[in-house]
Amino acid sequence: MLHKILAKEVLPLVSKPAQYVGNEWNSTHKSQSVALRVALAYPDLYEVGMSHLGFSILYHLLNNLDGVAAERVYAPEADMEKFLREKAIPLFSLESHLPLRKFDIIGFTLPYELVLTNILNMIDLSRLPLLCREREGDIPLIIAGGIGTLNPEPMADFIDVFIMGDGEETLPKLVRYYQKWKIEDKKSGKECLLKGLAKNEGIYVPSLYKVNYSCNGTVDKITPADEGIPSRVKRQAVLDLDRAFFPTSLIVPYLDIVHERVTLEIMRGCPRMCHFCQARAFYQLCRRRDMDTLTEIAVASIKNTGYDEISLSSLSSGDYPYLEELVGNLRKRQELRNVSISLSSLHVDSFSIRLIEELGKKKKTGITFAPETGSERLRRIINKKFAEEDLFRAVRLLAESGWRGLKLYFMIGLPTENDEDLKGIGALAREVLRVSGGKMRLRISLSSFVPKAQTPFERKEMAGIDELREKQRFLQGLLRNRRIKLNWHDTEAAFLEAVLARGDRRTGKVILEAWKKGCRFDGWSEHFKFHLWEEAFSGCGVDPSFYARRVRPQEETLPWNHLRS
Ligand code: SF4
Repeated sequence: MLHKILAKEVLPLVSKPAQYVGNEWNSTHKSQSVALRVALAYPDLYEVGMSHLGFSILYHLLNNLDGVAAERVYAPEADMEKFLREKAIPLFSLESHLPLRKFDIIGFTLPYELVLTNILNMIDLSRLPLLCREREGDIPLIIAGGIGTLNPEPMADFIDVFIMGDGEETLPKLVRYYQKWKIEDKKSGKECLLKGLAKNEGIYVPSLYKVNYSCNGTVDKITPADEGIPSRVKRQAVLDLDRAFFPTSLIVPYLDIVHERVTLEIMRGCPRMCHFCQARAFYQLCRRRDMDTLTEIAVASIKNTGYDEISLSSLSSGDYPYLEELVGNLRKRQELRNVSISLSSLHVDSFSIRLIEELGKKKKTGITFAPETGSERLRRIINKKFAEEDLFRAVRLLAESGWRGLKLYFMIGLPTENDEDLKGIGALAREVLRVSGGKMRLRISLSSFVPKAQTPFERKEMAGIDELREKQRFLQGLLRNRRIKLNWHDTEAAFLEAVLARGDRRTGKVILEAWKKGCRFDGWSEHFKFHLWEEAFSGCGVDPSFYARRVRPQEETLPWNHLRS
């Protein structure tokens, strides 16, 4: 029935209908009678979620378990949402088109803060109550994992269980625990399930923790609400990445997605320690895969997908100690002779033109480095290892080898930043153009510093929206040059990100209110409506500056204190 309605009345009328159809190459379809069903939900567009490696790993990992079927769902676009609501069609999975409420578990990925209203929207479109305490009886357990769990507190009212750390480590255990409970103990109810789960490492059940606030509005204490519940939840990590599961049959979509290629995770974590870095804080340990393992994964992945590109991916691929050898090994394999190899992140100190040439980029259009700021003084404060001489050396080599484009990332609003640091950005850009002999064009991207939970800068204050705009204008003047293209991130979106990244449970009601007012896809500038968020904050009596624009003293209890590793 649903198939017919979709085929006749919905799909012909929505944009990119293939994103709702499923049945792509390498997608898994298990029998309807499977013992346990998990819907993996990505709270952003299909084209983004399909490129998320962690989501793919968990999908294939769960489908490799006996008696478990994992299916996918992505956030529907506005036109699809309209049809789902008008025609009273509950949100459904791609594989079996089963309504999400028929699954045992719905597992959201939390890739960043500005997807939170999409999560509420997807729960609501599934015709499930938004609040955990209202979800009782025969309805799915809603769980979430990913980088957003560094501080999951703003979502504590909506998500039953958070997976802390690497999902491969904890999710299969949670699924097995649930399976056993479903067979042997379901009558005991959800509370019993949650209490049992909370005793397992790497599992956080927010409803089993009580938060007390001080009279100045800060968090006073966070304590377990029940005996046997650990006072601190530790993140779990895959220690031996080389032996960890890695999918070699990635799903091949029918429509364009962000990354159309095989993504080969060569390392997890980063050996560098930039003080602002959320990813570094999440992955903590730096682990790497062996070259032989990677080569075999690459060969199998290309064979199973037909892609013609492999990306050697990690937070800091240039720090993989055998990078040139790995590329050499891949190049030697007959099965990969028509495959191009790309690198996701290089550093100027580990840069080598031989490596770039070895990668065989035919289009010498662009390469990216991240000086982050314009002065060595500020780089020391943020702990960014970046020598300008290394950058100039790389630029000379690239220009001589025929490269014509370079992208530089900078962050503005960093702690202690002053005009001299900003002027340094202008000076650095001009020097890059000069040493390239006028051969290169520069693309400069300015993001705003957002203090994140569990990083060394977690107690810092964020610069104000007007101050950030002023810095952007200042740099716009400094970088006016026909060889430089400048773009920057929306300061209001960065401000909201700062509130949600370090919010406590009271910010949950603001997310709910913003969603009710129509906020969706807040990470997309064309959809972001800051005025609705402002109304939501004021309607809920929550001051966003309290979360974003305040230095938090050392003695203040942070909302994520009980979740530190
Ligand atoms: S190098 Fe990149 S990934 Fe590593 S800590 Fe610094 S910002 Fe984070």
